[in-house]
Order: sequence, then structure tokens, then C-alpha cells
Amino acid sequence: MSVAIDLRCTGCGNCLITCPEKALVPARLRPLVIVDRCTTCMACVEVCPSDAIREVPA
Ligand code: SF4
Ligand code: SF4
Repeated sequence: MSVAIDLRCTGCGNCLITCPEKALVPARLRPLVIVDRCTTCMACVEVCPSDAIREVPA
């Protein structure tokens, strides 16, 4: 499993600084998920103020 970020992302950066695996990296529109690094810990989901991150099949 991994996570995906949808259009509700405002680019606040909360998830980027929260991910313990450095699985989220800055990108032009919204953070990019490095699927191989994501442990599906859900820390990013909890800190997203826009409810823009959800679990998805890797
Ligand atoms: S679920 Fe955890 S490991 Fe995966 S991107 Fe979010 S904070 Fe990082
Ligand atoms: S925490 Fe949510 S709104 Fe903020 S950058 Fe990450 S996905 Fe976008």
C-alpha cells in the first residue's frame, strides 16, 4: 500500500515535514509520493488540513 495526494492539496507542506520515511518530496503542484519508501504509517494523513491524502494500493 501507499498514499496518493489529490487536488484538494493546498501545498501547505505539513506532510513533507511529517513523513518519517522521507517518502514525500516537493513537486510543482503537490508533493510527490515515493511509493517504495512509504510504510503507510498514515502520519501524513493525520496532519493534512485539506483531507487530500488517502491510502491506495501501491
Ligand atoms: S503514510 Fe507515512 S510513510 Fe507514507 S508518505 Fe505518509 S507519512 Fe510518509
Ligand atoms: S499536508 Fe495536505 S495540503 Fe498540505 S502539502 Fe501535504 S497533501 Fe498538500
